[in-house]
Amino acid sequence: MKKLMITPLGTISPHCNLRRNCPGFLVEFENEKILLDCGNGITNLLKFPEVLEHLHILITHYHEDHFGDLGSIESTAFCYHNLGLLDNKINVYLPKKEYNGRKRMITSNPESYSIYQDIDENKVYDIGGMKVSFYDNHSHGIESYMIKLEVNQKKIVYTSDIGTTNLEGIIDFCKDADLLISESSLLRKHHRNLTTHLTGYDAGRVASLSNVSKLLLTHFWPEEDRNLYLEEAKENFKNVELAEEGKKLILEIE
Ligand SMILES: [Zn+2]
Ligand SMILES: [Zn+2]
Repeated sequence: MKKLMITPLGTISPHCNLRRNCPGFLVEFENEKILLDCGNGITNLLKFPEVLEHLHILITHYHEDHFGDLGSIESTAFCYHNLGLLDNKINVYLPKKEYNGRKRMITSNPESYSIYQDIDENKVYDIGGMKVSFYDNHSHGIESYMIKLEVNQKKIVYTSDIGTTNLEGIIDFCKDADLLISESSLLRKHHRNLTTHLTGYDAGRVASLSNVSKLLLTHFWPEEDRNLYLEEAKENFKNVELAEEGKKLILEIE
């Protein structure tokens, strides 16, 4: 039986600390590896140089917490290639539109060993047998993609950063996923006035309305008690857990 392995690498934002990193998830299927975002600190949990072979890095948007360690990975690929230990370039998928010079900064690095391509949300990519599609969530203030990975009948959706203003489109994209990895930046007690992130309660609601099988919460505020997110989400959806750095999830593929 084939396996899809998901390893949380970073679960907090906007800053990392000694125990936890900014957003990133590693998905492994057969020989292929996909990094969903590349936040500060995630390189702590990657195994070099092995991880660099057959590596695809998907950057969902140009907020620093989602690409802070990209430069380190690219420099490492450059060095290992120069040492003769890496033959194939790493593949980096980026949002199309420039955002305050971030895209130029990433793509103009002369000491990287990467191929860059713009994300096309009208396309379904085939990455080593994984079908990968993107959806600009139109609720986070900037071009920002949700990502769906499908192998046979199994479906994983990673929300990255989403807000509360396009719930219909978001729910449609998440529909019937086996695993929904959802941001939950806030708690209701924050009395927020911003619509560009979800609370734990909202994440549970999205999971329930999307009819997913399991919800994995992430993107926590570093100074908050993580159990409060769980409690809020559970008000709307029962099969939920907190993403933990290094704690793998495995989906069996028929
Ligand atoms: Zn963001
Ligand atoms: Zn973020």
